[in-house]
Order: sequence, then C-alpha cells, then structure tokens
Amino acid sequence: MGPNCAPNLMRHNAMADRAQNHSRTGGCQFGGVRYELRAPPLKIYSRSFGISVIVRATAFALTRGSPQRWCRPTDSGRTLNCYFCPNCGSRVWHGEAARDATLSTRAARLMSPSM
Ligand SMILES: [Zn+2]
Repeated sequence: MGPNCAPNLMRHNAMADRAQNHSRTGGCQFGGVRYELRAPPLKIYSRSFGISVIVRATAFALTRGSPQRWCRPTDSGRTLNCYFCPNCGSRVWHGEAARDATLSTRAARLMSPSM
C-alpha cells in the first residue's frame, strides 16, 4: 500500500500535528510523505524559491510515506540524493548520504510557528 496523498486527509492530520506535537514537522504538498525534526536546525536561510533548512542527519526522521530517490553528482565529487514523493512529485529534501541533510522547503511546509 502506498502513501495516501488525499488533500482532505492531509488537512486533518496537519491540524492534529500542530495541536499535539511540538517538534517541527514537514512533508510533501499533500502529506503522503512526512518528516519530523527532532533537534533544532543547524542553519536556516532564505532563497528565492523558499527557505532551506540544514539539519543533522540524526535529527531527521521520516514519519510517513516511502519517498523515491534520485541521485546526481555534486561539484565536489560526492553523490547528492534527492528524495521526492512518488504520489505528488514534490521534492521533500536532499542530502548527501550519511551527512547532514538539507531540507529545501517552503516555509509553509514546516508546521511549527516557532520557525
Ligand atoms: Zn505527496
């Protein structure tokens, strides 16, 4: 069974998360893929398309869904993994394996008002 991206389901769950969960959560546009940040971000900076959040790999937890991955080489010769929702196609995060992850996300996808 794949993740469910139904917008109505997402709306309900997002509200529940906001009310009950103090950790920062985010995910794809329709909620098929969700993640949780279990430690404060290392760095947050704005870009033209949104906000990028740098987190330690150990602070990042996938809580729902089965994101698909594609890889591309970086200028420094490493491999960058990009993860996206197989249902709606939203890119959720990217990062180098076993290194700190970079979440490229719109601010609205992070539910915590403290962001
Ligand atoms: Zn999705």
